[in-house]
Amino acid sequence: MVHYKSEYEGPWASAKPVLFAYPTADWRAVRPVFNTAICGHCGICYLQCPVGSVQDKGTYCDVDLSYCKGCGLCAKECPNEAIMMVREENK
Ligand code: SF4
Ligand code: SF4
Repeated sequence: MVHYKSEYEGPWASAKPVLFAYPTADWRAVRPVFNTAICGHCGICYLQCPVGSVQDKGTYCDVDLSYCKGCGLCAKECPNEAIMMVREENK
């Protein structure tokens, strides 16, 4: 298990506070769906999300879609393939 303490240990440390300040509007084309049942709580998505919208729920991670930009980085990096990108509907 990867041990992480805060967003500031991740690769997007300086960008996260700025990007997280802007809620995502309706332009997002795809969004991540987290399968929390197979999430191993490794914290990789939490560290890699440029926006800081992945939330640590204690035993698994999930996403705050209010800020998620739909970049897909979390899904690409998840070792358990617990995150699937799906198209936004009604666009
Ligand atoms: S969703 Fe994937 S990358 Fe994120 S904590 Fe769970 S297993 Fe790790
Ligand atoms: S799709 Fe991008 S912005 Fe959204 S949670 Fe994943 S890494 Fe963060």
